[in-house]
Amino acid sequence: MGVRIRKEDTVIVISGKDKGKIGKVKKVLPDKGRILVEGVNIVKRHMRARSAEQPSGIIQMEAPIHASNVKLICPLCGEATMVSFVVKENGEKSRVCKKCGKEID
Ligand SMILES: [Zn+2]
Repeated sequence: MGVRIRKEDTVIVISGKDKGKIGKVKKVLPDKGRILVEGVNIVKRHMRARSAEQPSGIIQMEAPIHASNVKLICPLCGEATMVSFVVKENGEKSRVCKKCGKEID
């Protein structure tokens, strides 16, 4: 199964420690089937000083989570949903919300 989540999508986490959190997708890592979601799966990293502008310290950053741990929030009906693909006449793939049946993009 391919990643059906795209950058800028809004998703809800359905399992794990951040279950129920909603965030925007910052990055998709298709080879790994993982995504980076704003405010989700925050980890602390110790950083070495690289320059005066980037001093050492502990920073908090998102770590990727598996795409199967989220559901898309449909921008059209606002429901947490699964999507299916349809191929349009011009050959482009478009995602369809399984809840409202509308084309998302
Ligand atoms: Zn929908």
